[in-house]
Amino acid sequence: MSDSKKYIQSVLDLVSKKDPGQTHFKDTVTEVLKTVAPVLDQHPNYEQHKLLERMVEPERVVMFRVPWQDDKGEIQVNRGFRVQMSSAIGPYKGGLRFHPSVNLDILKFLAFEQVFKNALTGLPIGGAKGGSDFDPHGKSDNEVMHFCQSFMTELYRHIGPDVDVPAGDIGVGGREIGYLFGQYKRIRDSYDAGVLTGKRVDYWGSLARTEATGYGLLYFVKNMLDAKGIDLKGKTLVVSGAGNVAQYAIEKAQSFGAKVVTCSDSNGYVYDPDGIDLDAVKEIKQVRRGRIKEYVETHPKAEYHEGCKGVWTVKCDVALPCATQGEIDLDSAKALVANGVQAVGEGANMPSTLDAIAYFQEHKVLFAPAKAANAGGVAVSALEMAQNSERLQWTFEEVDAKLQGIMKNIYESAKKNAEKYADPDDLVSGANITAFSKVAEVMLAQGLV
Ligand code: GLU
Repeated sequence: MSDSKKYIQSVLDLVSKKDPGQTHFKDTVTEVLKTVAPVLDQHPNYEQHKLLERMVEPERVVMFRVPWQDDKGEIQVNRGFRVQMSSAIGPYKGGLRFHPSVNLDILKFLAFEQVFKNALTGLPIGGAKGGSDFDPHGKSDNEVMHFCQSFMTELYRHIGPDVDVPAGDIGVGGREIGYLFGQYKRIRDSYDAGVLTGKRVDYWGSLARTEATGYGLLYFVKNMLDAKGIDLKGKTLVVSGAGNVAQYAIEKAQSFGAKVVTCSDSNGYVYDPDGIDLDAVKEIKQVRRGRIKEYVETHPKAEYHEGCKGVWTVKCDVALPCATQGEIDLDSAKALVANGVQAVGEGANMPSTLDAIAYFQEHKVLFAPAKAANAGGVAVSALEMAQNSERLQWTFEEVDAKLQGIMKNIYESAKKNAEKYADPDDLVSGANITAFSKVAEVMLAQGLV
């Protein structure tokens, strides 16, 4: 084993020893570190400066009680978190997730990913993630508001436009950001528009922020396919999820002439041989806050299947996992490859397990890793911060053009480093090396912090 590989293994052992139960965190650290050995080979001083040991330790973790009262007058107690992983490149930045699965392990994994994803955007943002085990499903607006107000009553002291700027993630959309912003403003008595991103456009959100993650994913995938002379037009796409990322991935894919035949939620998936009717999905999810199975009530040719894994057995040219982590395991990867999938683009954070990624790479499936392919959302969040600082708002076209440029840069830098250090099509290594090198150099420049 080379010295770099030994150093990497010692840090992975350290992660297991310090936090034995944190398997999601360990997986993502493994995924990143295993690909950066060539950079460490060239920089033996990184080990001397204990750079990896510092990178796997969050700068700060805040964990707090969130008490609130439901509509029946009963007291509920949830747990809130903010993991501030790195402020090397800018204020901590990353979403808030409200979902029953949220715990410290998941948030450390997401915050670690966010550091490198944010570095790839080329914009001045560090990395963080936060959230709660609160489940917004089935809650009234009033309950969601009370929860958000209680959550912010603690969180406000840890955030600020130049300190830490949260945004949405699973379970946190425009409604929640609104309630969170209202409470922050009330406690601080200051109109800090840049303290949260993903705000509604009428109180200084950015145009194209809602669309950014889904559109950005398609821009990235298009760059990747164009380089191979593959046209998205006429291709069959399988998309999982039906939330913000999935909806706008479907919208952009359709505008490129692709046919998207599926979408899903945590109960099951819809297959529509005519192509998904996006207006119907938006009506169900955005207006009625309903379940995706309602789609078949108005679309008799479509089928609804219980369970989420089945979506990966649908024959397609391109698969876009846009639901959640770990949704494509080795079996699903095998089913996709057996059905001739040509490319996979990750819209969710780490939706493919490590063995699924390895299987795709072995079978020469073009693979767009999450931290590069879904960086469009946080990139436009950074543009929202820029607009808030100058107290101006840019047009949809301006923001969208910048987003396209950012996604192209991310693709090109990942590709360049894949060619230089790994297999020329290995964008996992390429993206990790680009982001890691940037964060490492900045950390060194800033001394022992
Ligand atoms: N939750 C999104 C992500 O995973 C966006 C974060 C942000 O805009 O700060 O990147």
